[in-house]
Amino acid sequence: MKVMCWIRNLKYQIALLVLLSLCSCSTALHLKPASHMIHESTRKQQQQIAPPSPVELPSRPTNQPIVGSFISKIDVNHLAIWLKNLTLFPDRYYQSQNGVRAAQWIENAIQSLPVPSDAKLTTKLVHHRDILQPSVIARYESKIPTTLKGIVITGSHFDTYAKNSPQGVGGPNPAADDCASGSAAVFEALRVLTTNGFIPGRPIEFHWYAGEEEGLYGSLDIANTYAAKGIEVLSYLNLDQSGYVKPGTRPEVGIYTDYTTSAATKFLSSIVSTYSGLPQVGSQVCGYACTDNASWFLAGYNTAMAFESQDGNSFPHNDEVHSDGSPLDTLNLINMTHVSAFAKITTGFVVELSLTNTSSKEK
Ligand SMILES: [Zn+2]
Repeated sequence: MKVMCWIRNLKYQIALLVLLSLCSCSTALHLKPASHMIHESTRKQQQQIAPPSPVELPSRPTNQPIVGSFISKIDVNHLAIWLKNLTLFPDRYYQSQNGVRAAQWIENAIQSLPVPSDAKLTTKLVHHRDILQPSVIARYESKIPTTLKGIVITGSHFDTYAKNSPQGVGGPNPAADDCASGSAAVFEALRVLTTNGFIPGRPIEFHWYAGEEEGLYGSLDIANTYAAKGIEVLSYLNLDQSGYVKPGTRPEVGIYTDYTTSAATKFLSSIVSTYSGLPQVGSQVCGYACTDNASWFLAGYNTAMAFESQDGNSFPHNDEVHSDGSPLDTLNLINMTHVSAFAKITTGFVVELSLTNTSSKEK
């Protein structure tokens, strides 16, 4: 996430500039130094596209007994095996066949999950223009018709980048923290729900994005498509790095407040307090569109972002390898218990919003 720089990729830069050019605010072209101006103006423009959430987001959890029963089933060992297996691809670069195989592997893992008879789990690869790697979407929903409107979405990117690699930026990198960890937490949340018989209220989607490191390719495409189709989403929850605890520091959760919305962030904060067992540090900022929640935010949706730590304590070598090609972002640096806390957060967030029956917004 951190080293992902949107100016790396010309096409992404052009796409964002086109987006910004639609705004009346001329100062929106002052990029990083005026990031608040950018996201406020782009948000205003994009809100005309994405429909609002069909309900007000709750301010706190209301389904603790149900959520607790699934969180108790989160299995650190299962999560660790899944995370390790994802790192076994030599790379997961967005323009490599390994990156494609990693997507297919995630899809196969989803298809292998048991599903209760009253629920339906569907999965698909989403192909994007100009890049080789597809994103992966799993949709989990009840077979019983519901009057609850909208869907809930969580996601993480799974692609890799290898700055300083002798083979170029598409070179080998296990990228255990960035972002096998977030990918594994998202999968574990899905696994405990389908395996232990949760029947969603409104549908829940779990996304694994292609091409984040090079410019949010997968999430931009999907978020803009959903907005254009008028798909109602209560909120999107993003995970990125979720596995590193800096030596000498306490395990904690960083809550990001740029490219996120206040209602979703407030709800996420209450979810972290209730279900993660970890302290949280709020008001963290990237200062630019650093990860996939920015895509949903720019499309006009509610978004929230939970991160492995406060900004200054995060993994310092994401997206990098040694100049001889040997990896830096390795499995041995991952705290699997910490990753499991993010699976708890994800489970709490999506189950609560899947079931919430707060009254519809006045329109
Ligand atoms: Zn990342």
